[in-house]
Amino acid sequence: MNNQEPIDEIDDEMTDEIDDEMTDEQENILKVVLANNISAMKISKILSEHSNNILLTDYVVTGLIYRLMIPMTDDEMTLSIKEAETILYASSSDEEDGDTVDEEDTLDTLDTVDEDLVDEDLNTKRKIKYNSCNCDICNKCRVCLINFGEFIPNDHLSTIYKNSIVETCEKHNLIL
Ligand SMILES: [Zn+2]
Repeated sequence: MNNQEPIDEIDDEMTDEIDDEMTDEQENILKVVLANNISAMKISKILSEHSNNILLTDYVVTGLIYRLMIPMTDDEMTLSIKEAETILYASSSDEEDGDTVDEEDTLDTLDTVDEDLVDEDLNTKRKIKYNSCNCDICNKCRVCLINFGEFIPNDHLSTIYKNSIVETCEKHNLIL
């Protein structure tokens, strides 16, 4: 599954009001966003493990940046989509109570994910931290951090994603 093209096609619909019922397209987007977040969290966990550190906000953010700039392979996507489906269909019931789902809401989880993991001072502006591990993933994460500012997302969803990361960093006083 490719996470780029289907999203471009439905750009206009996404910006319009979202109906109570999820269309297949919306459901697919939700899955992709969720899959992306699941995968990003795995990267965050690797960063954390490779630094013998707790899961810092910095690593959560870096995981998201990595996943934004380095798209999943087809295999990774297939796996992550499966995990996303497990979460989605486990938590949702059949009742239609008009719970609206949109990409902004889903991306808001970026903010909530880190709150309870964090035991650190987020009131002082500081540069984002990275570890000194030289494995492939940690190396790529550092390269992504360096290039994030200049990174131009190539679709609507990625743009929202990038903006959301920037906002999260501002909120937590992290300087990229
Ligand atoms: Zn590493």
